[in-house]
Amino acid sequence: MPKDPSQPLSPPRDKKFKLKNYDAGFTNGLKEAEAREQITTLRLRVAELQAELVADGRFGLLVVLQGMDAAGKDGAANSVFRDCGPVGCSVHSFGVPSEEERSHDYLWRIHKAVPERGKTVIFNRSHYESLLVERVRGLVPESRWKERFEEINQFERMLSREKTVILKFFIHISKEEQRAQLQQRIDNPAKQYKFRMGDLDDRKLWDDYMVAYEDIVQNCNTEEAPWFVVPSNRRWYRDVVIAEAIIARLEALKLHYPPAPEGIDGLVIE
Ligand code: ADP
Repeated sequence: MPKDPSQPLSPPRDKKFKLKNYDAGFTNGLKEAEAREQITTLRLRVAELQAELVADGRFGLLVVLQGMDAAGKDGAANSVFRDCGPVGCSVHSFGVPSEEERSHDYLWRIHKAVPERGKTVIFNRSHYESLLVERVRGLVPESRWKERFEEINQFERMLSREKTVILKFFIHISKEEQRAQLQQRIDNPAKQYKFRMGDLDDRKLWDDYMVAYEDIVQNCNTEEAPWFVVPSNRRWYRDVVIAEAIIARLEALKLHYPPAPEGIDGLVIE
């Protein structure tokens, strides 16, 4: 985790959050080879804790991944949770709302997808799109999206009180890194399917998105559902940082296996 106090992973709540103070290329002195070694161990620990979460059954784990196009949301999910089997762990992606989804409130489709106790769900995009694309593209009036910070905090507070553990990661890349990643998608036939022309429209709105992200971290970085701003130009560093944050949070829960059924001691199957 970054030890440089000028770039804390979870920004202090009592200070104005400014993205310009956060270098997307920061690696805290870690070298790629070291990170690749570390992530192997960290993934195993994530998987171990996730299995304990299933057995313990008291908590659900909600991991929110947000970031610009090609920031590496899928990549982070695949890497950090690689050793978790499909039992109890899944990804839910939120794209353009369907007609049915649009005819409900913006949290309707979100609430249905949050994990039940004992399960882990990774959100690839989330309810925060209601403060990102919907704001930046003017899909909702300012008077309405401004109310959402507080609504989302309340929603997350309720989930947390109902034993959903929430961790939110902003996969922070630079505009130059996005250019390189999008160009790769264009140039590599195996990646072309990921490219959408609309990505270029959103890229033109880069600065507006950054302001929207700043406001989100400023207003919705709560104790029960913290935001982590993850320097992600180096994917190997990103994965180490996310895995460490998840491990720390799960370890703090003091998960344990439920008591064995009575009479099991010394039982021999014939
Ligand atoms: P991704 O880019 O995450 O790999 P897609 O190519 O399916 O996945 O893109 C998802 C798109 O859905 C993004 O452009 C995003 O802006 C859009 N989207 C997500 N949530 C909303 C929303 N609430 N309203 C409008 N558009 C949304």
